[in-house]
Amino acid sequence: MITENRASNSGKNLLYSVVPNVKSKLLAKIVVGGMFAAFPIALALPADALQVKINPSNPKLGDTLSVFINVDNSGSGANPKVTTGNKSYPAFEIAPNQYRAFIPTTPLEKPGTRTIRVSGDGKVRNLAVLVQNRKFPVQRITLPPGKAGVKATEYELKRVAEFKALQTPKKYWNGMFGKPNAGRITTIYGVRRYYNGKFANDYYHRGIDYAGAAGSPVVAPAAGRVALVGTVSQGFRVHGNVVGIDHGQGVTSIFMHLSRINVKEGDFVQPGKLIGTVGSTGASTGPHLHWGLYVNGQSVDPVPWRYQEFK
Ligand SMILES: [Zn+2]
Repeated sequence: MITENRASNSGKNLLYSVVPNVKSKLLAKIVVGGMFAAFPIALALPADALQVKINPSNPKLGDTLSVFINVDNSGSGANPKVTTGNKSYPAFEIAPNQYRAFIPTTPLEKPGTRTIRVSGDGKVRNLAVLVQNRKFPVQRITLPPGKAGVKATEYELKRVAEFKALQTPKKYWNGMFGKPNAGRITTIYGVRRYYNGKFANDYYHRGIDYAGAAGSPVVAPAAGRVALVGTVSQGFRVHGNVVGIDHGQGVTSIFMHLSRINVKEGDFVQPGKLIGTVGSTGASTGPHLHWGLYVNGQSVDPVPWRYQEFK
């Protein structure tokens, strides 16, 4: 559900108000185009247009919110600003006078209404978006006394954090994401865990596990630039041999526990390109591929990206 709570206006729902605006503008263009063809821009475009639409219309935790912004004049030069809470998200131009920002949501957040603030063209819009709860599966893990599991190295954490923070202005992907391995899915996104009976507040499964056989191909699900290659010997104790693809505009993919790596940093890959093979390196109990999809640094559910196009 998306409603607008713009204090300065009548408070009517933005999505519904957009339609008549567009209609009247088209009419204005037709009329003006005939009468004053020499001055179409000055007369046809009202100066107060900042239209915002958010997809999906009924989001739940783990979804990626797409904020589409139409402005009448991008002449000011600055991209619109998108913020929610104390965080801001970059908006990129995807068509003339049209911008899009992605806002990630995760299982660690509380469901409920959040206000998304969009400013551009000298105007501000506040949109209230209701993010629904979603029940994620729960696993109960028992660790032997004194065994806290494998700890990541400082180097590993630093490299991975830098990779996930990328917000490359260029958009490399196109259309829906493919699957990176032919194996069946064994663990879905968002699974929560109890360790020895204690709920792990900060844990959720940050990706999808595929049960591909050891040595089976891992391919790029979408185009991008290889921006991270790490190996066990370099200190990637938890990730194991790992490849990270930068899809651009804050969207990154990470592929963990590989046995072999077939690309190097800086390579540009197309969808379906072989990037490595399934293994069990790092913190892994058996051969599988872990694919994590990150949007502006947060792990989101890759499933919507597999079945619909994020423009
Ligand atoms: Zn996993």
